[in-house]
Formats: sequence, structure tokens, C-alpha cells
Amino acid sequence: MTADVIDGKAFAADVRARVAEQVTRLKADHGITPGLAVVLVGEDPASQVYVRSKGKQTIEAGMASFEHKLPADTPEGELLELVEALNKDPQVHGILVQLPLPDHVDADKVINAIAPAKDVDGFHVSNVGLLGTGQKAMVPCTPLGSLMLLRDRLGSLSGLNAVVIGRSNIVGKPMAQLLLQDSCTVTVAHSRTRDLADVVRRADIVVAAVGRPEMVKGEWIKPGATVIDVGINRVPAPDKGEGKTRLVGDCDYASCAEVAGAITPVPGGVGPMTIACLLANTLTACCRANGLEAPQDLTA
Ligand code: NAD
Repeated sequence: MTADVIDGKAFAADVRARVAEQVTRLKADHGITPGLAVVLVGEDPASQVYVRSKGKQTIEAGMASFEHKLPADTPEGELLELVEALNKDPQVHGILVQLPLPDHVDADKVINAIAPAKDVDGFHVSNVGLLGTGQKAMVPCTPLGSLMLLRDRLGSLSGLNAVVIGRSNIVGKPMAQLLLQDSCTVTVAHSRTRDLADVVRRADIVVAAVGRPEMVKGEWIKPGATVIDVGINRVPAPDKGEGKTRLVGDCDYASCAEVAGAITPVPGGVGPMTIACLLANTLTACCRANGLEAPQDLTA
């Protein structure tokens, strides 16, 4: 079997186009421009790339982008003051503080200082609680994007066995909640899981969010399963030249694609969906802030 490739890049482009359409309508009908503020502390190269890309795509969607780049030694208090100012700014509907934050900053404290209604990353403890209890929440972008790809591929997920590898607050845990809400039987595997291969072999849906290059092997995959590879790992690529690197996922793509029914590539799978969902969440936050109905179909 050769797996179908799930084209997250094309899917995300479609979501972004639909967001842009709604933004145009919001501006024309109500004179409102959704605004996203992104806060970056320090100079982590990967974070800089993400923030640049987020800013570019925010503007392309017709939204206002506010970037706040702070030095790595910014005191926690100063960061909290900035978040407070953004909470009060009526032009800002979504706030994203790029993680990881430097060690001297308490990331939980900063995230929980964001007004829950502007928490477009869905990391505030209120949104985590709302999601966990099946209430209307801001849903974290990467798991939301992964769910959209799964629904598009499989239709109803009800009754399917899903294994999520990884239990981070950013990906693994919210992913498990979303799959549970869609009536999957969910197993969350992690670094202490015994016989991971055996656990994964039972899954109709595998979501890998580990951060270990090409860890999940094709022989672990149940034939026909749908594999969502969230991992983004930079590894040396001597074949491309000295010092060159390439991106790989947490799944060994070649062997998994031989067994799976469908698989997301890296790059071009889940990655583009994350920013598309961020834009959709910002639009939703903006609509809610202005007492307007948020478009449901964008993240259905
Ligand atoms: P994390 O380091 O916070 O969590 C990794 C999880 O993997 C942990 O829960 C740990 O228990 C588990 N784990 C580690 N080693 C394991 C092993 N040998 N067997 C089973 N489980 C193991 O990472 P994260 O923030 O959740 O990110 C995971 C991956 O997803 C990374 O590669 C990251 O770059 C990527 N990511 C991608 C996007 C995107 O937009 N596509 C967004 C966020 C994260």
C-alpha cells in the first residue's frame, strides 16, 4: 500500500482564503479590522521564522499585525505590562506570546495574564478548562489544524482508535481532548509508555507530537491507518552539501507511507494548518469582541 498524501499546504491555503473573505466582509459591513499582536522575547532562530511567517500571513489575510520584539533579558514584569496593555487595546483581538520564553520568565504566568477572549493560542487555563469540559473555547491551533485534516480525510471519527504520542500542553493533551470530543477511543502515549510500537499498532489514527526525528516506524503502523505527523525536526543533510539541514517529522515517512492509508508530509502537512487556524481564531475573537456571530464553518 502507498499512503495518500494529506496536502496540508493546500488545505491551509483554502482556510486562509476563506478567512480573508470574511475579513473583507467585516471591513465592508462593519468597518472592523481584526488585529493580531505577536510578542517575541529573545532571538531563538526558529521562533523568529515562525513570527515572521505569522506576521506576513496575517497581513495577507487583510488583518492588522502588531509585532512586539523584546530583548532576551526583558524582565517578567515588563512582559506582563505589555500583555496588560494589549488586553486593553481595542485594535488587538488576538494575542500570541511566542514560546519558548527565556528561563527567567514564568511562561504560565504570562500566558494566564492574557485575556481569555484574546488568547488565540488557546493556552490560557480558562480555555484549557472550557475545552476539557466541552464548552466553547479558543482551541490550540496545531491540534485544531490536525483535527480538521482528520475530519476532511475520514469524515466521522466516531469509534475509531486514536493514539496521540506526546502529552504536551500545546499539542498532545489538547489533541487528545479534541479526538475524545469527536468520539474516538483515545490513548495518550508518552516517554514512559511501555511497548509504544504495540500501542501504536492498534490505532486507526496516529498523531505523532514527540520532537524526535523519524521515531515512528512503518512496522508500528496498522495497515490503512491515518498518520498525522506534527513533528518538526531539523536534521543534518550532508547529501545537500556541508552544513546543510532538512526538516523531518516524528514519523519515518518512507516506511510509514508504505503501510498507512494516508499521511501528512513534513514540511507541508500540519505546519501550514497551525497559522491558518491562528488566523481563524483571531477572526473568531474579533467577531465575538464586536458582538457578531463568528463564522462556524472555518474550522469545522
Ligand atoms: P514537547 O517536547 O513539549 O513534548 C514532547 C512529548 O513527547 C512529551 O510529552 C514526551 O512525553 C513525549 N515523548 C518524548 N520522548 C518520547 C518517546 N521516546 N516515546 C514516546 N513519547 C515521547 O513537544 P511539543 O511542543 O508537543 O512538540 C512536539 C513536536 O511537534 C516537536 O517536533 C515540535 O517542533 C512540533 N510542533 C509542531 C507544530 C506545528 O505547527 N506543526 C506546533 C507545535 C509543535
